[in-house]
Amino acid sequence: MAKNIKIIGAGISGLCAGCYLQMNGYDTEIFEMNSVPGGLCTSWERKGYTIDGCIHWLVGSSPSNKLYHLWNELIDMKKLDFVDFKEYLRVEDRDGQVMRVPTDIDELEQEWLDKAPEDKALIMEFTKAVRKFVGFEMPAKKAPELYSPWDGIKMVFQMLPYWRPFKKWISISTGDYMKKFKNPLLKNTLRYMFIPEMSVLFLIFTLAWMHQKSAGYPIGGSLNFARLIEKKYLDSGGKIHYGSKVEKIITENDRACGIELQNKEIHPADIVISAADGHTTIFNMLKGKYTDQKIEKDYQNLLTFPSYLQISLGVARTFEDAPHHLYFPLTRPLELGDGTRHDHIGVRVFNFDPILSPKGKTLLIVLLTTDNHTFWQELRDKDISAYKAKKKEIADQVIHSLDQKFGGIRSHLDVTDVSTPATVIRYTNNWKGSFEGWLLTPETGMKNMKKTLPGLENFYLIGQWVEPGGGVPTALMSGRNVAQIICKKHKKEFETQT
Ligand SMILES: Cc1cc2nc3c(=O)[nH]c(=O)nc-3n(C[C@H](O)[C@H](O)[C@H](O)COP(=O)(O)OP(=O)(O)OC[C@H]3O[C@@H](n4cnc5c(N)ncnc54)[C@H](O)[C@@H]3O)c2cc1C
Repeated sequence: MAKNIKIIGAGISGLCAGCYLQMNGYDTEIFEMNSVPGGLCTSWERKGYTIDGCIHWLVGSSPSNKLYHLWNELIDMKKLDFVDFKEYLRVEDRDGQVMRVPTDIDELEQEWLDKAPEDKALIMEFTKAVRKFVGFEMPAKKAPELYSPWDGIKMVFQMLPYWRPFKKWISISTGDYMKKFKNPLLKNTLRYMFIPEMSVLFLIFTLAWMHQKSAGYPIGGSLNFARLIEKKYLDSGGKIHYGSKVEKIITENDRACGIELQNKEIHPADIVISAADGHTTIFNMLKGKYTDQKIEKDYQNLLTFPSYLQISLGVARTFEDAPHHLYFPLTRPLELGDGTRHDHIGVRVFNFDPILSPKGKTLLIVLLTTDNHTFWQELRDKDISAYKAKKKEIADQVIHSLDQKFGGIRSHLDVTDVSTPATVIRYTNNWKGSFEGWLLTPETGMKNMKKTLPGLENFYLIGQWVEPGGGVPTALMSGRNVAQIICKKHKKEFETQT
């Protein structure tokens, strides 16, 4: 049996694939270009603050969701504390009116009806859809690639009650849907709930999971979470080589047979799994030799999640009564200088995680999306002082706006940290600095992407670039599914225990 498996990338999908393959008797090694695990699921330290770079909510945070049991195969979920927010977010308008998005669906309905009675019919239609999907679970235990005709029939029966609403809500983008609403504040609330190009179904799922209290935030943040999976992997006998950038996937007679690192070290393998960025894997590591029209069209045409600037502030004061996530209008639009303009900003106030800041202090994070990653990469490459000056200028504007909103920001500032699309690319290599891979739009729907490449044996691509919609739980499933596929190929029963 082919036993020696090399995995590229110690993001969540690479780590999870490694854990399950170790459980099934394979010898795996992970090669990670960064010095820490987690990929996008990360945090970093600044003067006593832990700046979180990822998880707003983790699907499967409670036993009421099937994914919890999959997470439990890797980490002891009982040892993690989760916060189930009472509100998803709040949006303010220029007159100081506030629209809350409570995670309890009855409360949400009441709040929206009270503040936007003119949209009653649409509100009732939306909340009916959320209620319908409370308790709905996508099948997660078996890799769809391994479905038998009988599994397919079972799936059709399971999906039957949901099929019509599923089709309806996946076929409309949030941007188009919000246009139907009359109330400007409710329109804006929908606008800021996620990415407007995403299908409304994504919002419906998220609110249904939050209502069910199965999409909480893990106290301690994202790197702490990734470290738990890293520990499971190392305890099961896996090896991680940090600071090891893979440059090439070596092939012989159209079979992957090893990897070559940037330092020219060669590591032979029976099977290679790339859990790294899809674009680099297909077009650089494999030099575009194993692709077809479909893959090329996808990489030319499909929309990706945008990139972003993250402005993180460590502030030496508490924010007891502040909402944990607030969008508010700016007095003057914020121009990023790369062609992007924001007239609202959203701030996360980490008053719910005592681990991330020293006592009596608080971490604030503002994310500003941009589709122009090239501007940031070129600026950093060509003129590092101008790049730093631009970061400072944007941070100053954000601090000014937060001062207007809360007061006592600049006067209590301990830490200012700005990451840009160039940072995301430098640390994770994600194409265009995207934060979650392919967008789940009405066009992509629940698009099925293959984990194999045409004409290449003994190779798999996993993670957010083959799982539209991305996300941490999807990365878990991608890693688990590839392990099942490999076991099946070797006629091995799939085990989920060490
Ligand atoms: C700001 C932000 C908020 C988010 N919020 C949420 C959320 O609330 N809930 C949720 O579920 N998801 C969230 N996500 C998305 C989630 O983090 C990702 O979809 C998921 O972590 C992707 O995991 P992955 O393993 O597929 O890819 P990645 O995390 O990109 O991992 C790829 C790994 O491969 C490594 N690599 C790349 N190229 C090479 C190479 N050549 N050689 C060696 N190593 C290489 C990278 O360094 C990286 O470690 C968020 C992401 C961001 C950025």
